[in-house]
Amino acid sequence: MSLISSYWKDFIKNMGEKDKNSIIYPLLRQAKIQSVSDEKLTLSVISASQFDFLDKRADQIEASFFDFCKQKIEINFIIIIPTKKKIEAPLLSFEPSIEDVFAKAGLNKKYNFDNFAVSTSNQVAYAAAQAVVNNPGSAYNPLFLYGGVGVGKTHIAQSVAKKILEADRNKKVYFCPGDNFTNELIESIREKATGRFRKKYRYLNLLIIDDIQFIAGKNAVQEEFFHTFNSIASSGGQIILTSDRPPSAIKNLEDRLHSRFLGGLTVDIQPPDFELRSAILLIKAKEKGVEIDIEAVKIITERITDCRGLEGALLSIYAKTFGSKDKIDLEAVEMFFSQDNREKKKRVNPTDVIKTVCSFYNIKQSHLKSSSRAASIAFYRQIAMYLLEKELGLTLIEVAELLNRKDHTTALHAKQKIGNLILRDPNLKKEVDIITQSLFQST
Ligand code: ADP
Ligand code: MG
Repeated sequence: MSLISSYWKDFIKNMGEKDKNSIIYPLLRQAKIQSVSDEKLTLSVISASQFDFLDKRADQIEASFFDFCKQKIEINFIIIIPTKKKIEAPLLSFEPSIEDVFAKAGLNKKYNFDNFAVSTSNQVAYAAAQAVVNNPGSAYNPLFLYGGVGVGKTHIAQSVAKKILEADRNKKVYFCPGDNFTNELIESIREKATGRFRKKYRYLNLLIIDDIQFIAGKNAVQEEFFHTFNSIASSGGQIILTSDRPPSAIKNLEDRLHSRFLGGLTVDIQPPDFELRSAILLIKAKEKGVEIDIEAVKIITERITDCRGLEGALLSIYAKTFGSKDKIDLEAVEMFFSQDNREKKKRVNPTDVIKTVCSFYNIKQSHLKSSSRAASIAFYRQIAMYLLEKELGLTLIEVAELLNRKDHTTALHAKQKIGNLILRDPNLKKEVDIITQSLFQST
């Protein structure tokens, strides 16, 4: 395939994602490439009215194509009226694109197996998912995937659905978030339309309920789900369930559902290790067209341990470097993390520090600010001064004022003394760490 035709295919695909409702899109999608030379693309359409519509807009299409891939082309349309046989073929009927099929099944275009990285923490789940793709309805039914937030449960479940639809787009597949199942059922009961609800769910070839834990405790919903489950499974359909915990840990789950859940295969997905996080970050960067140094990847994945955070950090860093750098390097990452810290610090104010120290050591704020020289109080006061200077970056004069000391040398003394003690006394270090952590966590 020539470069231009491959760009053209991407261009159409992109238009389908962005601009699905336009009239140009379905027409261009059906137009056939007749010939391509260096900068000339000839497309055939099947009627004079299509020709008129598109030919008038050739300039506009050329311009969007250029915006898309920075490639100049001249587009010519010709009419080729299909022979009778072809007219009977489904060319004329607007056969839904695979993207439309995915969307109808409730699937997000972001997730598929090609952009899913596999490592020790998720390889069993991955293998089980593949087995389900190859033998839906019989290998493991249900496939029950569980694990913490962001470990890739939704990603894997949706990838299975896509594979099954890709193999046969007539399969009835539906991906349903657990709370949607609940809401939809309640709605259908209210509207006396449970028949429609059942028709939608009970005859599926593949049903995925994402975050099934949401149906626990709701009797009517569990009852309905039980029958849905039986109906699908008994007619050879596949069920995939995901949850943040194993079946045995879902509170208020009916026994009969619990035993159904255990009747297939239950697999847990562990949090991603460093290597997997790096692989995921590289995938996300590639998808977004962001260039990133491997050193920068390492720093980000060392500091951010959950997948959702990774993507967020990547985008923030990219947004910050955009325009000034052509790729994310170590410097950009360092800048991001130090800025992030400074912003956090800004959100904590001096009163928070004093309050937190007092509540940790169980003393009154008024004592801390009083002129009392009692050794115990003086010591906690010094800790407060140390933290005000170190964590909030206040000047020694400001620190002294906050605690009603006349002379900033008291603050200087506190800074040096506590700083030295922390190096020698692990217990004190631990206390100060806990205070610092709770300060920044609560904001
Ligand atoms: P969960 O449903 O377990 O909370 P998600 O499937 O929503 O997690 O994943 C969170 C994010 O992390 C998504 O952007 C997903 O694409 C990404 N992700 C998680 N695991 C992987 C993986 N193994 N490979 C690629 N991306 C992953
Ligand atoms: Mg999820």
